[in-house]
Amino acid sequence: MDGITPLIDGYRRFKATGWDTQLERWETLAKGQSPKIMIIACSDSRVDPATIFDVAPGQTFVVRNVAALVPPYETGGGFHGVSSAVEFAVTQLEVTDVLVLGHASCGGCKAALSRTFEGSEHGKGAFIDSWISMLAETRDDVIADMGTSDDAVREMEHRAVGVSLDNLRTFPFVQERLDDGRLKLHGAWFGIAEGDLLVRDPETGAFNPA
Ligand SMILES: [Zn+2]
Repeated sequence: MDGITPLIDGYRRFKATGWDTQLERWETLAKGQSPKIMIIACSDSRVDPATIFDVAPGQTFVVRNVAALVPPYETGGGFHGVSSAVEFAVTQLEVTDVLVLGHASCGGCKAALSRTFEGSEHGKGAFIDSWISMLAETRDDVIADMGTSDDAVREMEHRAVGVSLDNLRTFPFVQERLDDGRLKLHGAWFGIAEGDLLVRDPETGAFNPA
């Protein structure tokens, strides 16, 4: 075994303790999943939603990517990973809530703010640059308001959650369910250092302690 040895060791612990003690739960889940909450979070290793929210398998449908972004609704070619997950969660699972979770020290948000990968070749940051270009307009607004200070990075992390929420509303099947009350959208931000969870006020866009 090599670099994944810690994972195999962890699996054995899970199988011996976590799994064996909840056979009924796994039997039910084997027949199908019906999570009612979708979470869109960053790929960052410090922001594991299952750990932060203390949820078990079957409870949340999760997508993670660089900076927890949802692209706008687009029907053109290409492989729409996030859009397909949103479509599946919203129209097939009929989740009742979608949470976009930003976080402290988000490398994607920082790169958007500092234009780290602008003009990069593929293999050196071009994919990242293209992905976080979703934040370009917001980045310009944040820099106009606050420059590129540490506070600006935090503001970028908060406003990026708002961008994803706005983009979710561009999906017709999302807007339809928001209109008739079947679906609600939420934003939050987590900081690992203090263990703080801030929840986004949908009216003001401000983030307040949970
Ligand atoms: Zn991040």
